[in-house]
Amino acid sequence: MQQVTNRMLAFLKPFHLTRIRLRKFAQQPRMTMEGIQMVDLIGQHQKIENELQQAMGRVLETGAFVKGPEVKAFAEELGTFTGAKHVIPCGNGTDALQIAMMALGIGPGDEVITTGFTFISTVEVVALLGATPVLVDIDPISFTIDAAQVEEAITERTKAIVPVHLFGQMADMTALSTISEKHNVPIIEDNAQAIGAQWSDRSQRAMQSGTIGLMGTTSFFPSKNLGCMGDGGAVITQDDDMAARCRQIANHGMSKQYHHDVVGINSRLDGLQAAILRVKLQHLPDYIKARQSAAKRYDAMLHNLPGVTIPIRVANSTHVFHQYTLRILEGKRDAMRAYLQSKGIPSGIYYPIPGHAQKAFETFGYNPAFFGESLQAAAEVLSLPMHTELNEEQQTFICKAIRIFVLDIND
Ligand SMILES: *Cc1c(COP(=O)(O)O)cnc(C)c1O
Repeated sequence: MQQVTNRMLAFLKPFHLTRIRLRKFAQQPRMTMEGIQMVDLIGQHQKIENELQQAMGRVLETGAFVKGPEVKAFAEELGTFTGAKHVIPCGNGTDALQIAMMALGIGPGDEVITTGFTFISTVEVVALLGATPVLVDIDPISFTIDAAQVEEAITERTKAIVPVHLFGQMADMTALSTISEKHNVPIIEDNAQAIGAQWSDRSQRAMQSGTIGLMGTTSFFPSKNLGCMGDGGAVITQDDDMAARCRQIANHGMSKQYHHDVVGINSRLDGLQAAILRVKLQHLPDYIKARQSAAKRYDAMLHNLPGVTIPIRVANSTHVFHQYTLRILEGKRDAMRAYLQSKGIPSGIYYPIPGHAQKAFETFGYNPAFFGESLQAAAEVLSLPMHTELNEEQQTFICKAIRIFVLDIND
């Protein structure tokens, strides 16, 4: 028995130690180079722990776990932040896209023009509704949908254009709005990665991402720029009719209790997430500034490296840096990634396979010849750690490793 116990203790010990070490680590300011992460939510939340505890405490007290006052208040506050007249909170960013498309009545026989260089949700929901995702290539500068190709792809079946504001920078909303008006096809902005970004239109009036198209959708997945501690999402719109439809669809197609006028879905934000989001929304402007400062530091350290392209900023959009994405040229991306990994530096590839080349969408028969820019981007992109807690020391360490790799210096 003693032997068994000893063996069990020996088995448990490493776990026990790990737990203690993790806890200690979490309490320290994250200065160690071993601590570099793609996203540091623990560090971010520690700084606002009291506010978060209070917010969560309110939900425990009221017992309003699904919808309720916190959700209502958050929707109002997000409306104020974005300038959107209506905010319809829902379960996640994928649902938000689906709800917006259902509000437009999109279904079999319809076409939706979008980009395959995105997280798959954008393409997936179109197919899920029985419609056809018409994919076009990207602009290599911004990685966002190429507006000229959008216009060429419009047919009488086109029911929506869905640009994705990728990595924190907006698609060309001036060109897309012109096309939208000319052909009378609405825009749904997939704004899961660019909340708080602004577009300056012809009159140079800055508008918030998600508020320029007929509808905008976003995600509050934890790692997004405005993230909760689970799943969440929202549709935003200035249009009363679309807002009413989205609300109804997200709530089982219900007009009044147990009267179901249309086929809907069940998609809702819960009270805890809303309470957390209310706290984090107040910090969002500072979080955006922290990301932009980190991006500037990266720029300064990486701008003159051969074979490395730093993120190019487009003229009309601010960049809120959901990702800081380099292009690594000459086929060296994967080797660089492996080298960084060996130094304890994480990096990400968003996205390795564009939508047109995904197995699930094979049946749509996309011709790879039309997706040269998406394929090249997929082969070259490398996203570096980017979050609100990233500091200069960490970035110096990261950029030094990149220099060593690129210039082939011995370290
Ligand atoms: C994250 C993301 C989504 C989906 O959001 P979920 O909340 O994970 O469903 C959709 N589109 C883009 C561009 C995203 O980055």
